[in-house]
This record gives sequence, structure tokens and C-alpha cells, in this order.
Amino acid sequence: MANNTPIPCTVPAEEVARLKGLGFLRDKLTADCFNARIITRNGKITAEEARTLSEAAARFGSGEMAMTTRLTIELQRIPYDQVDALIDFLSAHGLETGGTGAKVRPVVSCKGTTCQYGLIDTFALSEAIHQRFYEGFHDVKLPHKFKIAVGGCPNNCVKPELNDLGVIGARRPVIDPDKCKGCKVCQVVNACPIHVPVVTDGLVAIDSAACNDCGRCFGKCPFGAVSHPVTGYHVYIGGRWGKRTARALPLDVILSDEAQVMTVIERTICLFRDQGIAGERFADTIARLGFETVQAQLLDGIV
Ligand code: SF4
Ligand code: SF4
Ligand code: SF4
Repeated sequence: MANNTPIPCTVPAEEVARLKGLGFLRDKLTADCFNARIITRNGKITAEEARTLSEAAARFGSGEMAMTTRLTIELQRIPYDQVDALIDFLSAHGLETGGTGAKVRPVVSCKGTTCQYGLIDTFALSEAIHQRFYEGFHDVKLPHKFKIAVGGCPNNCVKPELNDLGVIGARRPVIDPDKCKGCKVCQVVNACPIHVPVVTDGLVAIDSAACNDCGRCFGKCPFGAVSHPVTGYHVYIGGRWGKRTARALPLDVILSDEAQVMTVIERTICLFRDQGIAGERFADTIARLGFETVQAQLLDGIV
């Protein structure tokens, strides 16, 4: 079995803490090496960036790269005396390290942009959130870390509901009873993967509490009895995963455009900054203030 015993660190503790703030996490199996966390914006990198990272891993570290669970890449075993040179090298190629501390963390995204079930352009939205809230709020100190994830549909591959704020694509069905013919074999019933629609007394019905707005019944009714006038975004707040867990709760409305989502995210981060208590996660802030109070502040004037 591989040895996992930590080796005493020869780098001063204050330097270890400073480097952690820059995205360099100590490799406990070495006396003076760090793993450098690369910010990938939304989990997608170009071939050119991949070449740069490959060269950096070989030139400054052990030649290995590790994928993190939050879609960043860590270059392995960078010696302490190579840290500055690596930062300079990355910077010259438009890349940076980071992603730690009590602030907005790197955004994670599923591949909803290209996935058959994706309802929104997750890569584009994640990159926009990255620019405005990871880069733009870099110096904004928060009570605790703040994680954001963007998912293309309720399949939740990237687990937005376990983040402080999650965005999930949504397409809500609306029934026109006048057009429904109560077919023996209903295409809307057949299309739903979680068996929500039912046809009773000659009319299709969809329980809105059970429907997850996945939109898989979109365009299925040949008579146009079920339409989907809005494709938009559910915003979930207050999730967390780790030593303690909490599942985020959705705001009551589906937001219909990206500008609304960005406004809600900005308000959420500012609310956490201003009304959170140092050391508490956003889930605790919501529990303390009350979900309805928080929601009212986030949606004020938007809907
Ligand atoms: S969450 Fe939905 S859109 Fe995103 S990768 Fe999974 S199935 Fe595709
Ligand atoms: S929703 Fe469409 S397919 Fe289903 S019963 Fe009504 S008319 Fe028929
Ligand atoms: S939106 Fe999805 S969950 Fe809701 S009825 Fe249609 S297929 Fe079923």
C-alpha cells in the first residue's frame, strides 16, 4: 500500500498560508512542494491552454496534472522555489491560479451547451458568471467560501443544489385544456421520464409540484395542448456539501433571461457579504434570516 504519511514541512507556515491564498495547496508527501490550482473559468480549456499546462507541469512540477471535483486542474509537485516562475509563465499565457479562501470560488458547469438535455448555454453563462463574480468580486471578502454551479437541466449532473447558489435550466409545460383531446395514448405522458402527466376524464393533467421543468415533453403533443412558453432558469440558494450538508431551495419563479440571473447572483453575494456572520456558510445565513426574507430581497422588483 502506498505511503500516505505526511512529511514535515520546511516552508514557513505563513508562506504556506499565503500560497494557499494564491491557489497553491501543500503536498503533504513532500517537504516543500505544492499543487497549483489552475482556474479554468467554466471547466473548458482550449488546446493551446492544454499545451501550456502540459508544458508547465513538465517544466515546473512532477509532470502530472490532477482533475479536481470542481473542474479545475492541479499541476502536481511544484517546488516552493518554482512558484513565482510558474505564476509568471502562466500569466504570460493568459492563465492563473487561485480558487481558495472566503470568497466567490471558481464556477462549475455541466456540458449543457452541447448535451441533448441541456436547456441553457451553460458554458456561456458560467463564463459570464466567472468574469463578473469570480474575477470581478475577487477582493470582496465574504463570511465563508461561496460556491456557484450551473446545470443545463434537472438531471443535476453538476449538482447545483449542493452549492451556495445553483442555476438550473428550466422549461415549464403549460396545458391548454381546449386543445387536449384526451388521447388513449398520450405523447406527453410517454415523454415524461418521471411519469408526472396523467390523462383523466379526457384531459391531460400535470402536477406542478412534481414536474421538475425538464422540458422533455416539449413539442410532443401533436395537437399543441401542452406548450412551453418560457425556457429559463431556476435559481437555488443555500446548498452545501462536506462536513455538513444542505440541499439548496429554489426561488419561487423561473427567471426568463440571463440579466435577471446575474442580478439575483449579485444580490445574493452582496446579501451574504452584508448580512452573513463571519464563519457561517450561506445556508446558515438563510436559516437565520428565513428563506422568505432572503427571497424577497433577491427578487425585489424583478418579478
Ligand atoms: S445536467 Fe442535464 S444538461 Fe447538464 S450534462 Fe447532465 S443531462 Fe446534460
Ligand atoms: S396532451 Fe396532447 S397527446 Fe396528450 S391527451 Fe392531450 S391532446 Fe392527446
Ligand atoms: S417538464 Fe419534464 S417532468 Fe414536467 S411533465 Fe414535462 S417531461 Fe415531465
